[in-house]
Amino acid sequence: RSVVTAASSSPAVATTATDVPGTMKAWAYEEYGDASVLKLDEAVSVPAVGEDQVLVRVAAAALNPVDSKRRMGKFKATDSPLPTVPGYDMAGVVVKVGSQVKSLKEGDEVYGHISEKVLEGPKQFGSLAEYTAVEEKLVALKPKSIDFAQAAGLPLAIETAHEGLERAGFSAGKSILVLGGAGGVGTLVIQLAKQVYGASKVAATASTPKLELLKSLGADVAIDYTKENFEDMPEKYDVVFDAVGQGEKAVKVVKEGGSVVVLTGAVAPPGFRFVVTSDGSVLAKLNPYLEAGKVKPVVDPKGPFPFSQVVEAFSYLETGRATGKVVISPV
Ligand code: NDP
Repeated sequence: RSVVTAASSSPAVATTATDVPGTMKAWAYEEYGDASVLKLDEAVSVPAVGEDQVLVRVAAAALNPVDSKRRMGKFKATDSPLPTVPGYDMAGVVVKVGSQVKSLKEGDEVYGHISEKVLEGPKQFGSLAEYTAVEEKLVALKPKSIDFAQAAGLPLAIETAHEGLERAGFSAGKSILVLGGAGGVGTLVIQLAKQVYGASKVAATASTPKLELLKSLGADVAIDYTKENFEDMPEKYDVVFDAVGQGEKAVKVVKEGGSVVVLTGAVAPPGFRFVVTSDGSVLAKLNPYLEAGKVKPVVDPKGPFPFSQVVEAFSYLETGRATGKVVISPV
């Protein structure tokens, strides 16, 4: 077990058996703006490890739309100070543990979403870096059957899918319509609804080339939004999960007494919006399904992007056309 530096803002000191350097490569920005503000910095201080944290050598990271919205300055009022090393999702190896860490040790392969709250005080030093410091409670052991790149794409999206289904009171025998079934969150909502919760019926929307994917993930009905308007169709659902920003249409197809979960954009009653809270115990709970291959990570086939191509990867994510997760690997 390592001796750990407690200060949170001073550079980490390499005091341990595991060889941790004082500086690292990381993507960072000093001002808000489009993807061009991102610069690869070769000498960022390796974050110090708090007593409840582990330091992870990041093997793979993943991008989320919230990284882009944050970088554009949408959450300025509650953001951490600039400069920012972005990134919420990661998978990697524990190289140092804080004095209060109980269940993890050096060498453990972990994955997680590193900021408990994405919008309120997210970490200044995120996952698009060689090392990142994260609270033990926000990570879980990586399922052995998936690799780092696959694992890195899961945390924020699967925690969002899970929290949305829980808040909607989803349970066995209920039906669900997933708006945006082919995206990072949608691919996981379909699978959790079907494989973990035991949905009676899963319907999902996407454009024509992605309908087969929806079916392969467990959707009973794949609706092509370029040809049909879901809100004009007769079927009603117990839950509608909106990962697109169609809250006002979504409420038209929910059954009386049902729930409409909205991740972005306007909401109309009875719809509600929430912001995901990171929780490693959710990952641990879902690990058996991942381990058994009942829930599968979907990594966008244009990736994984190498660490040198984070700007290209963000530009691609920001087209809004990604299939599953945009992953950065190796880091
Ligand atoms: P992605 O970038 O992964 O979503 C891309 C997908 O959206 C594509 O596959 C695309 O499919 C699909 N899509 C776009 N327009 C439509 C449409 N009109 N109908 C159906 N599908 C469509 O995003 P995420 O899944 O990661 O996130 C979705 C949204 O949720 C984002 O706005 C994100 O910020 C938000 N979010 C909010 C969270 C919260 O806590 N509130 C947490 C996580 C995400 P196609 O190419 O076929 O159009």
